[in-house]
Amino acid sequence: MDYDIIICFEIHAELNTESKLFCGCFTKPGAPPNSHVCPVCTGHPGTLPVLNRKAVEHCIRAGLAFNCKINRHARFARKNYFYPDLPKGYQISQYELPLCEDGEFEIEGDDGVPYPVGIKRIHLEEDAGKLVHSTKSFDESRYSLVDYNRSGVPLIEIVSDHTRNPIRSLSEAKRYLEKVRQVLQYIEASQCIIEEGQFRCDVNISLRPKGYEGYLERSEIKNMASFRAIMDALTYEIKRQAEIIESGGELTQETRLYDEEKGITIPMRGKEDAPDYRYFPEPDLVELEISQELINRIRAEMPELPRFKAERLVREYHISQTEASLLTKQRKVSDFFEQSFTYCKDSKKLASWIIKELFKLLNEHSVAIEDCPIAPKHFGRLIAMISQGQLTEPIGRIVLDEMFQTGKSPEIIIQEKDLKPIQQDDVLTQLVEEVIRENPSAIDKVRQGDTQPINFLIGQIMRKTGGKADPHKVRKLLSVKLLS
Ligand SMILES: [Zn+2]
Repeated sequence: MDYDIIICFEIHAELNTESKLFCGCFTKPGAPPNSHVCPVCTGHPGTLPVLNRKAVEHCIRAGLAFNCKINRHARFARKNYFYPDLPKGYQISQYELPLCEDGEFEIEGDDGVPYPVGIKRIHLEEDAGKLVHSTKSFDESRYSLVDYNRSGVPLIEIVSDHTRNPIRSLSEAKRYLEKVRQVLQYIEASQCIIEEGQFRCDVNISLRPKGYEGYLERSEIKNMASFRAIMDALTYEIKRQAEIIESGGELTQETRLYDEEKGITIPMRGKEDAPDYRYFPEPDLVELEISQELINRIRAEMPELPRFKAERLVREYHISQTEASLLTKQRKVSDFFEQSFTYCKDSKKLASWIIKELFKLLNEHSVAIEDCPIAPKHFGRLIAMISQGQLTEPIGRIVLDEMFQTGKSPEIIIQEKDLKPIQQDDVLTQLVEEVIRENPSAIDKVRQGDTQPINFLIGQIMRKTGGKADPHKVRKLLSVKLLS
C-alpha cells in the first residue's frame, strides 16, 4: 500500500538571554548543579514572576522570521502537571493567544520546488529542571537527582502544522530541522547547541493511505535531541504504523519514547490532550500588549536571512549557488567572506579557499568560525596575492596554515619563513637551463612537437625551489628557451 506521510514538529529552542524568563538567575549552561536558582525558579510559595523583555523580543523576532502574524495581545497560561523537575507543579506557557501564529517557513521540497511548511504557532514558555538518574537506564536507577539551573530558562516552542502543508518525508524533515536551526542562529534568538540541549523536539507522525482525505491516529515521539535519532525513530515509526494498518490493526494516539540503543520506539502513555493539563490564564502575570512600534523596531533590526543572503551573494559576487549556500550555512562564515572581499576582489577564489582550505583547517582543529584565529583582512590579502600570481597555491597553503597557528599576517609569515616567491629573471633562467641540461630526453620530445613533458619540466623547477618559483614566469621562460 502507498502512504502519505504526515510529520509535524514541536521544536523547543533555548533563547539567548542572560537571565531566566521570570527571575534574574543566570542561564549559562555548565554551571555547578543548583547554583543558578532562587525562590522564583524553584517555585517557592508567595513568589511572583517578572517577565524578561528580551525573551519576548526574541520570540517576536522568530515570529517574523517564520512569517507569522504577531499577536498584539498575548497571554500566558498555566500548564499543570506533576513531575519532580517542575517544582511549582505547573509550567508557565502560552495556550490561547500565543505571541505568534499562522506562519509559513519555506524549505526545498523533495521535488526541488520551494515548499512553505505551515507554522501553527510560536510561543514563549519556561523550561523545566533536569533529572539526572544514577545509571543510564531509568528502570535500573537507584536514585535520581534534580538540577534546577535549567528551571525557568526561556524557550520558544515552534509548532508546525499537520493540516496546512505538513512535512511529507524524512528528507524534508531533515531539511526543515536544519533550516529552522540555521535561521534561529542567524537571528541570534538561540545558539541552538544540540549537545547542550538548546535545541530539542517532539515529533508527531501519522500515515494515511494515498487518496484518503482524513487523518489516522498519530504518535508523538518525545524529547529528541539529535537529528540522527529523530531520523531513525521516524523510520521505525513509519514501518511500525504501516504494519499495523496492513494487518488490519488499530492505531492509537499515543506518546512514545525512542530507545536509541535498541533502535525502536516504545509506548510511554496515551498522548495527553489539552484538557489533561487544565490550562488556565496565568493569574500572576498581566496580559501582554505588544506595541506596533516594538514590532516595527524588531523588523527593522532583523538581519538578512540565509535564503536571501545566498541569492544576493550569487548576484553580487558571481559565485555559484552551491558556493553561496555553503557560505551562508552560518552567518559568521558569510560575514567572513564579505569582509575578506574588501581586500581581495577575486570572489571566486575567495569562496573556493574558504570552502576548501579554511573549512578544512577549522574542522581539523575543531574550531568554530567565531574563534577563527585568521582575521578576514589577512585572509583577503593572502588570497589576493595568490590571485595575482605573486604566490603559488602550495605556498599559499603553507602560509594559511601558519596564519591559522599564529594569527599573524601573511606578509610577516612570508618574510619570517622566507617564502617570498622567486621572480628574478636571472635566477629563474639559470634554473630553466639547469633543468634542460638534466632532462635531454624530455627536451627531445618537446622539440618533436610533444608538449606533454613541459609540465614535467615545470614540476622539476618547482621542486628545486620548494614551490617558490612563479609558475607562469617559468612556463614563459621555458617556452622561449625550447622554441629558440
Ligand atoms: Zn531564579
